[in-house]
Parts: sequence; structure tokens; C-alpha cells
Amino acid sequence: MTLLQQYAEVAGSDAVEHLRQLAGLLQGARVVHVNTTAWGGGVAEILTPLIPLSRELGLDASWEVFEGAADFFACTKLMHNAVQGMRVAPDERGLHVYEDYNARNAERLRSVLEDADFVFIHDPQPAALISHLPRRRGSWIWRCHIDASHPDPRVWRYLHEHVATYDASVFSLPTFVRPLPHPSYVIPPAIDPLSDKNRALADEEIRGVCSGMGLDPNRPLVVQISRFDRFKDPVGVIKAYRLAKGFVPGLQLVLAGGGAADDPEGAEVLHEVRGAAGDDPDIHVAELPPRDDVTVNALQRSADIVVQKSVREGFGLTVAEGLWKGRPVIGGDTGGIRLQLTNYHTGFLVNSPEGAALRIRYLMHNRDQRLEMGAKAREFTRRSFLLTRQLREYLTLMVALRSGAGERISLG
Ligand code: UDP
Repeated sequence: MTLLQQYAEVAGSDAVEHLRQLAGLLQGARVVHVNTTAWGGGVAEILTPLIPLSRELGLDASWEVFEGAADFFACTKLMHNAVQGMRVAPDERGLHVYEDYNARNAERLRSVLEDADFVFIHDPQPAALISHLPRRRGSWIWRCHIDASHPDPRVWRYLHEHVATYDASVFSLPTFVRPLPHPSYVIPPAIDPLSDKNRALADEEIRGVCSGMGLDPNRPLVVQISRFDRFKDPVGVIKAYRLAKGFVPGLQLVLAGGGAADDPEGAEVLHEVRGAAGDDPDIHVAELPPRDDVTVNALQRSADIVVQKSVREGFGLTVAEGLWKGRPVIGGDTGGIRLQLTNYHTGFLVNSPEGAALRIRYLMHNRDQRLEMGAKAREFTRRSFLLTRQLREYLTLMVALRSGAGERISLG
């Protein structure tokens, strides 16, 4: 089966037909995406399926990975934090390292980038490539995946010199947008329905994961998957579970996530979570190894309710993942979660452990309502948060840039 057929099966033939129509206007267009890592992190996760899908649609798409080393990443980590609002004084040496790597990568990628019709540069790390390629002929798009709404002014002033020369920029949420002297577009992230994290699983696969974790498949289950980070409020989830448990006999809770091993703060939070869980045998705190996608998928599918009780969140991929699995999601009333959840229809937005407990209780006692919300959740995600929707918006953007559309186009 071709990739397009596989996507048509899960995302719907209408979604794929729409892609074909748009791609028809871009046949043979050379499209290059540049980011700084081939695997790990949301950008690589989405480019991995995006490139073959674009190629099957007739675009000459490719993906170049920027070559950096420890000194470059130390500097761009600071820049990343500064764009997200941390106060970081730009240091001359760091900026020199940044420029130098951008110059060298521009040299290495010169022919492919100068000849491309469209170049998507992902995030601040490779943003200065453009300044080294004055003979570029295509349209250049800066694709910013982070919250750039309140950057450190000095670091932004520097970055702005490079970014302002692009033909367009793309942000993930309306609140992340930074004013720039070219058209900016909002294209939210998406999940890949064919990846191990989101594909359909056989019942045995799901049962295997649950029994390995000591879960009882016949008792109600609430699941939150996330890094052990205070912004994800895992202790608040335990409080909500305890408040709901008196009204939902046999309730089980899974808090699973990775990242604690190499993150001192993560280890501290994990310790707090274990302390809060105490010796309750129905709270399962699990440290997941990186890329244990089938386990994440199976846990979300075993849940009656998926929770993402963050107190601060960018987009919150786990919300889209839970909705896609046909589960109502109880999410923190913050950031991108507000865009992903339709309160009372696909889940509930909550502001406290008490609020979360109330919603857990309600959903566990109203099976029909839970299933109905789950069905709406899946359909909403199919239309709004799958890779096919994201590619459709990239294609629309390219068509608009090629035809010289003005300041505003309507996407979708
Ligand atoms: N995830 C995972 N294993 C873990 C914890 C998280 O695979 O142990 C995945 C999760 O399924 C989601 C992503 O990592 O796809 C986290 O993205 P999200 O936007 O929810 O949160 P972030 O960690 O980026 O703040």
C-alpha cells in the first residue's frame, strides 16, 4: 500500500484528496527542510514522515540536518531559552560560534539551498544560514516551534536581523507570534497517525503492556504521560486521583514519563511524585526509557480518561495523542491545551486538583457520555491535529508564496 493510501485509511480520503489538489500546483518543486537533529524531539518526529509523504505527492522534498557540535549547542540552548523569555545577555563569543557554524553549514549546503524553491528553516539554531546565501532564488520560511512572544530583547534584536530577511514565518500558536516585517502564519503542531505512538495496536500488545505494569484491565484507569516536570503537575494529578477515588471504587492511576535520568530536576520531581504516591498499590509511577512509543500508545489506549493537568504548556502533544485514541482528555486550562480541547465536548479544562477530580468522577460514572466524548475527540483530532492537516497548511503556504499572495491568506 502506498503511503497516501495508508494515510487515507486513518486520516480520511478527503484529507488526502485535499493534499493531492494542492500538491498538483507544486509538482516538482524543490522543498528543503533544515533542522539540527535527525532524531529526538518533536521537529525530527514530524519531519520523518513529512518528507516521504511530500515526495509521494510529487514534490522534490528533502531534509538536511545542520551539523553542530557541543560548543554550538551550548550557545543555541541559551538562545532557545532567551527566545522563550529567559533573560540571557548575548555573549560575543557565543554569537561568534553561532555565526561560524551557520557560515560553515551554509557553505556545505550551498547548492541545495540556493537552488531550492522553498526552504523551511526550523527554529533559531540554523536561522542565520540565510545571511550567507545571498544568491538564493527560492522562498525562505522561518518555522519557529517555540514560544517567541516574550523573548529577551537583546537576543531577539540579534536574531531579528537574520529572521527579518525571510519571506515568511510560521508559529505554532497565535500567542507565540512575534511581529516581523513579512507575513506570519499560524500552523499548529500535529501527530503522525502511522507512528508507533499513534498507530492502532493489537489487543495483545495493549494487554502485554498493562499486565507488565500490574494494571487490572477490569478496573477504571486514568493515565498521564509526561516528563517529570513541575509544569506538568504530576503531584496535582495524584491529589485529583485521591479526591476521586472515594467515589470511583477500584480507580487506578498511571503517571509515566522519561527524562528523569539525565535531568537533575526531573529526578527531584520523580522523587516528590513517589513520595506523594506513598504505598498506594493503585498508583503506578513508571519511568519510561526514551522512545518507548508502543508503551505510551498502549497506556493511552488502556486509559478510560487521559489527563494532562499541566499548569503551563506549549502545545501539549499528549493531549492530541489521547484525543486521537478516542479518549476524553482532562487538561490544564493553559497554553495550547485550550486550543486542543473543546471544553465539555472532547474533554474538560481544569484549574485545580479538585476540578480534575470532579471531572474524573463525572466521566467514570457516565460511560455513555465518556464514549461519546471520546468519539468526538477522535473525529476532531482527525480533522485538526494530524500530520495531513499540517502538510496541507504547508502546501497552502507554498502555493500562496509562489503566487505572491499579499499579507493574509486563509489556511485550510
Ligand atoms: N513522551 C514519551 N515518553 C515519555 C514522556 C513523553 O514518548 O516518557 C512523549 C509524549 O507522548 C509526547 C511527547 O513526548 O509525544 C511530549 O510532548 P508534549 O508536547 O506533551 O510535552 P513536552 O515534553 O514537549 O513539554
